[in-house]
Amino acid sequence: MVLPQTPLVDLLEGELRLLGFSRLNVDQFWPGVTDLPLISFLIYLLLLDLADYWIHRGQHRIAWWWELHAVHHSQRQMTFWSDNRNHLLDDLIRDALVALVAVLIGVAPEQFVLLTVASRVLQSVQHANLRWRWGGLAERLVVSPSFHRLHHAIGFGHEGPARGCNFAVLFPVWDLLFRTADFRSGFVPTGIRDQLDGRDYGRGFWAQQWLALRRIATSRQTGAR
Ligand SMILES: [Zn+2]
Ligand SMILES: [Zn+2]
Repeated sequence: MVLPQTPLVDLLEGELRLLGFSRLNVDQFWPGVTDLPLISFLIYLLLLDLADYWIHRGQHRIAWWWELHAVHHSQRQMTFWSDNRNHLLDDLIRDALVALVAVLIGVAPEQFVLLTVASRVLQSVQHANLRWRWGGLAERLVVSPSFHRLHHAIGFGHEGPARGCNFAVLFPVWDLLFRTADFRSGFVPTGIRDQLDGRDYGRGFWAQQWLALRRIATSRQTGAR
């Protein structure tokens, strides 16, 4: 969803300006250094990734949001296209939040498109059914397919006090910093634990979209998480 975000950024920026907010323009902090195209690209990539990390924590922590995000986690077979299997509402909420952060920190719309493309390509690689580990320091610098696979693993990806591990989208530094990193190796089965008990998250696209909404409605009725 690269292109629909540009009008969204424009719209948000217009609204915020009306409210009296102005961009932070992070790339102007150190003129001559932080405004060099490559440096400013990397700074924004890092900052948007930090936002993505916390959005992802929210997707696992907030009960109704998890029901939407569960569509992404219910895939038992990881593929290059798994990254695109999401609930439409989950995508919409995440994209709007990232666009809002981008506007607040001063990402230019053209740059935002480039940042989104870079992030999406890396995310597709992570979801491929590969046993790749970058290994060594690189494993801690950029999210590898193996690191993200553990986030999808039954028994790891949505468990424990943090409700999961390895939430970082591009840079594991956030998981290291906030103590949610797990670098163990091994090829673990992916999915959600209750799928083993036969819970059905839907087979086709529309079934998955509909069942997520129904799970939210029924857990509200019963007061269950
Ligand atoms: Zn997740
Ligand atoms: Zn994923």
